[in-house]
Amino acid sequence: MPASSSHEAAIRRSLDTLARDGLRLWRRWLGAALRNDLRRCAGGGADPSPAFPAHFLVSVTYRCDSRCTHCGIWTTYRKEPERAQREMTPAEFERFLDTNPQLIQVATTGGEQFNRDDVEEFWLAMDRRGHRTSCATNALETDRIIEREGALLSRLSGRHLRNFAVSLDGLEATHVLVRGTPGGFARAWRLFQWAREQERRYPFYRVEISSTLTAANYREFPAFVEWLVAQGVPPHKIGFMSALPSAHYYQNEKGLQPVTARDELLALVAELQQTHPGFGRNYYTESYLGWLRDPASGVRCLAGTALGYIDPYWDVYPCIVLDRKLGNLRECGFDLRRLWQSPAARAFRSEMAAKPCTLCFNECNRWTSMRATTGGLARIAWRQARKLLGAPGDARRWRM
Ligand code: SF4
Ligand code: SF4
Repeated sequence: MPASSSHEAAIRRSLDTLARDGLRLWRRWLGAALRNDLRRCAGGGADPSPAFPAHFLVSVTYRCDSRCTHCGIWTTYRKEPERAQREMTPAEFERFLDTNPQLIQVATTGGEQFNRDDVEEFWLAMDRRGHRTSCATNALETDRIIEREGALLSRLSGRHLRNFAVSLDGLEATHVLVRGTPGGFARAWRLFQWAREQERRYPFYRVEISSTLTAANYREFPAFVEWLVAQGVPPHKIGFMSALPSAHYYQNEKGLQPVTARDELLALVAELQQTHPGFGRNYYTESYLGWLRDPASGVRCLAGTALGYIDPYWDVYPCIVLDRKLGNLRECGFDLRRLWQSPAARAFRSEMAAKPCTLCFNECNRWTSMRATTGGLARIAWRQARKLLGAPGDARRWRM
């Protein structure tokens, strides 16, 4: 077989594998949602079925070499250097994965994850157990990141997606102002270009630009999108989120200047969707626009029931925004279901049942909340079916 044909055959096999991976996720979410909905209908109270929690965001480090104005994670070890010794180890992380087989999806975050010398061990452990992996990076240690990411790509099984996001918060002057790192824009752009080349080699690799919007940069966002598109970046590869306040995660409650002009942001994003077909044609943006219009609309957040957040010292929270510690996994054998029965976790769920939280729109949490109910899954399936049937005006990406 000629080299090009064998390469194409390898890509086809890989895409088939990824389709099977997506179907496997669908099956698992459907099973978990059915079990939990049946328990609720049978009067199971505020406690979830053993199918939950099913999704966790795990911060593997708070080390960070950036100086962002909207996030104080980089100050963590300047204030308390001894805390760095208490960060989770890869062995503990493997034990966590093995103790919680009900977990359907796990995502890692930081800090700057590449500031950990052993970060690949976390991703390889996930890949071996059938989890997808992801990373958002500030790109500052560009050469080291390229070396590590390149080595990782050749070691991953290729059976599960790897998402890779490069943070860019605006045109050069704005990015440097927001991130406090001279030279950071050029490094991020170089890393993105390199990652795009890898995307052509590895069918399981998905690369995008990720922008965090604050009062300091949101008005420039349309010009930034124009610039990216002019450089050849497909609009669907430009992602964004609004900076969130968080005392325990971002440590930014004092310094953060969030976007408060909701109507202006709404109009700005809607116009970008019009101008650049493909931009924001996904569940996140659609739902985010709905949340900007009315925070109480849309999906009921299931933080503390179906999903949660773990910091680098194994403290567990319902999410990255609410400063409500529910327990520590080192103290309960890394068993999430046991921790989910703690008085703090039960009290939190009762409060959420009485008064749903609408404080934020957080992609992981709202998206996961939707997958965690049969009604939500039915909505996703309906959207997918319309897309497959080519329903006009519905080219959004609603993949698992
Ligand atoms: S936003 Fe990311 S790069 Fe910036 S300080 Fe926080 S963790 Fe570091
Ligand atoms: S709406 Fe936001 S702040 Fe409230 S529980 Fe969900 S993720 Fe946390």
